[in-house]
Amino acid sequence: MNVLLIGSGGREHALAWKIASSPKLTKLYAAPGNPGIAEHTELVELSVTDHAVVASFCRDKAIELVVIGPEAPLVDGLSDALREAGIKVFGPSKAAAQLEGSKGFTKDLCARFDIPTAAYGRFDNAADARAYIESQGAPIVVKADGLAAGKGVTVAMTAQDALDAVDACFDGSFGAAGAELVVEEFLEGEEVSFFCLCDGSAALAFGAAQDHKRVGDGDTGPNTGGMGAYSPAPAFTHEVETAVMHDIIAPTLLGMSEIGMPFSGVLFAGLMLTKDGPKLIEYNVRFGDPECQVLMMRLDSDLLEVLYAAAEGRLADQALSWSQDTALTVVMAAEGYPAKPRTGTVIKGADTAAGEGAKVFHAGTALKDGALVASGGRVLNVTAKASTVREAQTMAYEAVDRIDWPEGFCRRDIGWRAIEIDRG
Ligand code: ATP
Repeated sequence: MNVLLIGSGGREHALAWKIASSPKLTKLYAAPGNPGIAEHTELVELSVTDHAVVASFCRDKAIELVVIGPEAPLVDGLSDALREAGIKVFGPSKAAAQLEGSKGFTKDLCARFDIPTAAYGRFDNAADARAYIESQGAPIVVKADGLAAGKGVTVAMTAQDALDAVDACFDGSFGAAGAELVVEEFLEGEEVSFFCLCDGSAALAFGAAQDHKRVGDGDTGPNTGGMGAYSPAPAFTHEVETAVMHDIIAPTLLGMSEIGMPFSGVLFAGLMLTKDGPKLIEYNVRFGDPECQVLMMRLDSDLLEVLYAAAEGRLADQALSWSQDTALTVVMAAEGYPAKPRTGTVIKGADTAAGEGAKVFHAGTALKDGALVASGGRVLNVTAKASTVREAQTMAYEAVDRIDWPEGFCRRDIGWRAIEIDRG
């Protein structure tokens, strides 16, 4: 089977690596890809915002499946255009991608189909949002409705902070994403990312992970796209998974079908495990980055086979097998990240750093005059798998230390929560 993978991050490197190991694969193309992805694929220059160009490439190369990694092309309707052209796609339609693209849409779906989530209000003007905050008090959470790269959310410990966040939203700080906002109840508990593959009607649990959003050790400093992750998540027990599948995932799929937007692709549930049970914080409609990297390290099944089954609506008869080991990934970022990452610096030893059971996935890298250089904020994902989280952590940091990149940095405590739970 010929496959086209869209994307260029660490998530897509992990997907490319796993797809490339499938006996069903004939040829894998990636657009635009990166130097790590190039080890497993032929990179192609395609403007993914030009849907007709992508469709015509697929026809020329007899592509049987397109796998879309990031959210932007999904929200932009690439899946719809390809499906209309008769090409099979793993990824949701533009309408279904609203689960990520509009927080208000998801909250309304939860309300209508009785899906446990934080109590909320939706507002298109500051006066009503302010009145709601004053009636509810703090702590409280203010969210710009649309995609704001994780920056549109304020977890406000005081009412004043919440009111300031409302003003920032309507002042245009988040552009169109802030034209509307959601104000919601503050939830307390352990946060977990849970993934399901979906085919419009069936959902196949795809494992849980926990990530580290803050840039600094001890969960300090500004928020980032994610500085590391591990899987499985010890707090996400079999019982919790059963409850989440029944109370959150199943009604979401039924609800999306009922409103004429059947969901296929990856449903990524950001969950809070509260004392009243698991509650949905948000949905994303693609794999998490860096969570995908640890899931791919643990997956024993043929990824291509299951993604193709999802695209064909045949997930109900699929099963997955997983390594019981823990996988852990450490993100190496360029100095200055997240505010102003310094790019163009030379990285040495990335290709030889990983020992047995480890893998270095490329995110923001490029080749310049034959040298590997940093081309983005998050640059490498050093990933290891071992029988305990502590061992995986040690292996990952040993590989990090073999990489010669003075202008790079990473957190030194990835996995600390899981290690604490392990210690009891
Ligand atoms: P990201 O891109 O980081 O996933 P996002 O912009 O899609 O963020 P959310 O995931 O909804 O926004 O919120 C970001 C973070 O804020 C969450 O990961 C969580 O830690 C915190 N958060 C969001 N909603 C709540 C809530 N109701 N109670 C407590 N914390 C919350």
